[in-house]
Formats: sequence, structure tokens, C-alpha cells
Amino acid sequence: MRKPIIAGNWKMHNTIEEGIKLVREIKSVADNTDVEVVVCVPFTSLSEIKKELQGTKVKLGAQNMHWEEKGAYTGEISPVMLKEIGVDYVIIGHSERRQYFNETDETVNKKVISALKYGIKPIICVGETLEQREKNIEKDVVSKQIIKALENVSAEDMLNVVIAYEPIWAIGTGKTASSKDANDMISFIRETIRGKYGVDISEEVRIQYGGSVKPHNVTELMNESDIDGALVGGASLKAEDFINIVNF
Ligand code: PGA
Repeated sequence: MRKPIIAGNWKMHNTIEEGIKLVREIKSVADNTDVEVVVCVPFTSLSEIKKELQGTKVKLGAQNMHWEEKGAYTGEISPVMLKEIGVDYVIIGHSERRQYFNETDETVNKKVISALKYGIKPIICVGETLEQREKNIEKDVVSKQIIKALENVSAEDMLNVVIAYEPIWAIGTGKTASSKDANDMISFIRETIRGKYGVDISEEVRIQYGGSVKPHNVTELMNESDIDGALVGGASLKAEDFINIVNF
């Protein structure tokens, strides 16, 4: 049985003060559920939010990192720095990073390898554009992203990997993939993992859906056989919505 994982991706929202207020409202929810709850917050808030989460079950995530442990990379944050704060998860290859910050399948792979090396669990984002879906090449696109992201990742490390399937056309648009289409792609991702790592590992890896997950559609998505959780953007910024999603 895979433990469900619901992660909030705050993106570039919430000052330290606003973030503390939000986690104060949501932190108790994780104590009364079997769902693993994660908040992925801006770099500047990580330390303060970490303190706020002491003694709770909510896990802390970052939204990006560099793959090198240190060096002349102005403006970047290394896995060692994240580890020092006590970050549990890091989102890697979000479509906004691929689109606006030139991340490629190659850099995603480097970051995944590096996160695992430093004991930070990567949440690897994959997903197709609307144009690619209309051309019926969405599975080719996603399988290519998955295969490259997981290059040189060992079977043992795979158990620390979370995958988030986020069709780009569903992010922040209010359009969700139907739960059937989401499950169909997520089953396909699981098959791809099975092809490389075998059935036991593929059955253990958790795969989330992301893209306009809201309190009203989360139950249907979570009832699908292969969907193990959600990566939630907009609805993770309101305590009530996020709590209702965690309590799907
Ligand atoms: P959304 O964002 O829930 O606002 O669509 C999801 C994401 O980008 O991770």
C-alpha cells in the first residue's frame, strides 16, 4: 500500500510572516491523517517554516535547487544548503522552471541524482503541453521525460523518488485532466518504471497528479487506482482549501 502524499507548492507566494500564519493553520491536520503532508515554500522562508513545523508531521520541501554542492553559481542554492535546514523534499523540473528558466531533461536528471545523493527526496514533475496532447504524442513526451530524469538512478534510490504528473494545460487554468485521463497517464508512468526497475519497485513508487487540484475534485482523483497524491498550487495558499484537500 502506497502512503498518499499531498504537497502544497506555494510557488512565489507568501512572505515569511504570511507563510508562518498559513502553516499555523494547517499543521495540526497532518497529525490526524494517514496522508503525508508536505509544504514546498520559497527559499527565504525555509528556515522559519522549519522551526514552525517542529513537533508536527508536516514535511518541508523546497521548489528547486542546483545540482552542485557549492561553487561560482550566483543566485543558486545547493543541496547542502537545503540539507542544513532540514528540507525533506525538493520539487525538480516543474514546468514553470522548464518554461521560464530553461530547465531541460538533462538538468532535471542532474538535480535528481544530486538530491538523492544528499538525502533529499525529489518530486520530479513531468507533463505535456496542450499542443502535444492534441497531437496525441503526450505519452511519448512524458516517457521521454521520465526516462531521462531517472537515468543512473538506482533501484534503491527509486523508493525515495516521487513523481508528479502535471499536464501543463491544467496548471493554474482551472482545467483539470479528467480523473480517468490522469489515471491513464499515471498508470503508463508506472509501467515505464516497471520496465526499468521491475514490478515491486514500480508498485511502491508514489505518483501524484497536479494541475488545478481543488477540494471539489480531489476525491475523484484520489479514488483512481494509480493516483497516490496531489501537487497543489493555488489551492495550497488557502488553509481551508488545503486542509480539505488533505482530508479528501
Ligand atoms: P495549480 O498548480 O494547482 O495552481 O494548478 C499546480 C502546480 O503547478 O504544481
